[in-house]
Amino acid sequence: MMRALVVDDSRFIRHYLHSLLVDHGVDCVEAADGRQGLDCLQRSGPFAVALVDWNMPVMSGFDLLRAARSDHAFDGTKFVMVTAEAENDHIEAALLAGADEYLVKPFDEAGLFDKLRMAGVDEL
Ligand SMILES: [Mg+2]
Repeated sequence: MMRALVVDDSRFIRHYLHSLLVDHGVDCVEAADGRQGLDCLQRSGPFAVALVDWNMPVMSGFDLLRAARSDHAFDGTKFVMVTAEAENDHIEAALLAGADEYLVKPFDEAGLFDKLRMAGVDEL
């Protein structure tokens, strides 16, 4: 079964993503900030994909992305940034830091799975 990591400080967004993913047969682990997300990557992986919010307390999604991409242990995990920060410089910074795709909030089921396919998550 494909496994996904959802990292967002919004419980609402975590539960929304969880329900969409579980409906598609994806096993889902949730974390509430970047530090928890990094712990999950290290202890509960491997994950096919990490869906990562940008703005979170303790450790941002951008810092989580940079930490993960500095460790080759996570090369097999696709990273999709999920955020309301839709400015071009944010998107460019995320892609330069190693994000595979960028999903802008608000999004729906079709938008989520389009981006997962574009990110190269091919187990769906
Ligand atoms: Mg947030």
